[in-house]
Order: sequence, then C-alpha cells, then structure tokens
Amino acid sequence: MASKLVADCIFCRIIKGEIPSVKLLETATTFSFLDIGPLSEGHALVIPKYHAEKMHQLPDEFLADAMPVAKKIAAALGAENYNILQNNGKLAHQEVGHVHFHVIPKPNEQDGLT
Ligand code: 5GP
Ligand code: ZN
Repeated sequence: MASKLVADCIFCRIIKGEIPSVKLLETATTFSFLDIGPLSEGHALVIPKYHAEKMHQLPDEFLADAMPVAKKIAAALGAENYNILQNNGKLAHQEVGHVHFHVIPKPNEQDGLT
C-alpha cells in the first residue's frame, strides 16, 4: 500500500516531520500523535499515511489499518471511558482536510472533571 502525501496539508506535513508533533505510534500506514487542542488529557489523533479529505475517499486498506491502531492507543491511555470521533466535512465540524480519528478519553469521575 503506497502512501500518498501532499505538500499543502498540515497532517501530511506532520507525517513527514516538517511540522513537529508529539508522536505516539507510527506504522507503515498510520501515524498517531497528541491533539494540539486536547478536549481531555491524552486526546490523540490517528491518521492514515494517505491524503484523503473524507473517509469515503480513503482506500479500504488504510481505513482498516487505522482501527486497530485506535484500539491500541485507547488501551495504552488506560482510559475506561472514551470516544472515537471522525468528522467529515465543514458542516460535520471537520477542520483539517485529512481523514483523522480522534481518541478522546473521558476522565474518571473521581478526578473532578466531567
Ligand atoms: P476536526 O475538527 O477536523 O475533526 O479536528 C481537527 C483536530 O486537529 C483538532 O482537534 C485540532 O486541535 C487538531 N489540530 C489541528 N492542527 C493541529 C496541529 O498542527 N497539530 C496537532 N497536534 N493537532 C492539530
Ligand atoms: Zn494530508
């Protein structure tokens, strides 16, 4: 599966190391890193090494590889409660035009956060 990256995309540039990120896990087809504006501690993003704006434009192999990675990251974060979120298009709150999966841990109630 050949990667496809473009020059004018923030997430492609993160994959290439041109923009710094806190990397969590890299595989042949995915790159995972901490979200710069976390909704909770450990908020991570899993992105395919293939530039597609929306999920229906992403080849199946890249989509299939992203899910086990999201699972690994959720497990590594030790979160008992978490959301996997994936937005497509401006009206659906997509801000960055490169497919990405959010892994958003929900803090435990005893931490005093909701
Ligand atoms: P969206 O709204 O498109 O689903 O989410 C895009 C996410 O990417 C946001 O949560 C935002 O904080 C994150 N983000 C945008 N630019 C950068 C960046 O340059 N570095 C990192 N680590 N995250 C980013
Ligand atoms: Zn891209």
